[in-house]
Amino acid sequence: MKTKFPAFLLLILCALSSFAQPVKILHERAIVVDTHGDIMFNQIRSGIDIGKRQATGNFDLVRAKEGGLDVQVFSIWCDHTGGYALANQQIDSLQSLIKRYPDRIAQVTDAAGLRQAVAEGKMAALIGVEGGHMIENRLDYIDSLAKRGMTYLTLTWNNSTPWASSAAEEVLGKLRNKAGLNAFGKKVVKRLNKLGVMVDLSHVGEQTFYDAVKVSTRPVIASHSSVYALNAVPRNLKDSQLKEVAKSGGVVFVNFYSGFIDSGYYARQKSFLAKYEVELKELTADRKSVV
Ligand SMILES: [Zn+2]
Repeated sequence: MKTKFPAFLLLILCALSSFAQPVKILHERAIVVDTHGDIMFNQIRSGIDIGKRQATGNFDLVRAKEGGLDVQVFSIWCDHTGGYALANQQIDSLQSLIKRYPDRIAQVTDAAGLRQAVAEGKMAALIGVEGGHMIENRLDYIDSLAKRGMTYLTLTWNNSTPWASSAAEEVLGKLRNKAGLNAFGKKVVKRLNKLGVMVDLSHVGEQTFYDAVKVSTRPVIASHSSVYALNAVPRNLKDSQLKEVAKSGGVVFVNFYSGFIDSGYYARQKSFLAKYEVELKELTADRKSVV
């Protein structure tokens, strides 16, 4: 029997492919870089092999290649204090992935290495460490992580450290210490400068931001931040901050999380969750029984 292909479906497919094609071409021509992926935190818990195609999760080497992603900065992060051991565990796991798939992924620490990996058709993998709590208030831990390939340190995550205030806590008035960088925080920035590790200002409070810019002798970056003028989220960057990053010679990489780029997102999320409260409770209960 001959299959009939509905005309309207064909039209939709044509429209989709005419949009998808330029994106695919662009991804194939350009060196596509993702400067912040919290991949290893989930990976060490799930134990799945992200070298192979996976049905769940947002990342594996197969789908990344198909999407034209050339460079991935693996953000090494955990959501509580005392993260140095976990940081090393995540780096171990990444390096084990690289050992298992040396023809598909290589760790790099500079632009030349990055270009070489991409020219060889491999994903260039870099390490960024997110959250000052990962160094547990120790400068020597910065040295150790830099030796393992850390290319940036995000001075705070949503939580402040004793030496740097975060955007979330500065805005919510939850600070235990004075806002900004204290003397130790300034030493952290100087040590990063000395080691050639980029100072990442995503997540940091405004006071910390300006203190860090003042102390840093090298360009600063924001690895995953969006624009406050478009969506007034505490951890988005105000125009004056964007200009400061540019003035330092640094770059801001846009965070595409819907809540940071779409000012109506949180209101829609709230009404959606209220509408499906019963279903959500059922799903959450189910997940608990699985875990
Ligand atoms: Zn983050």
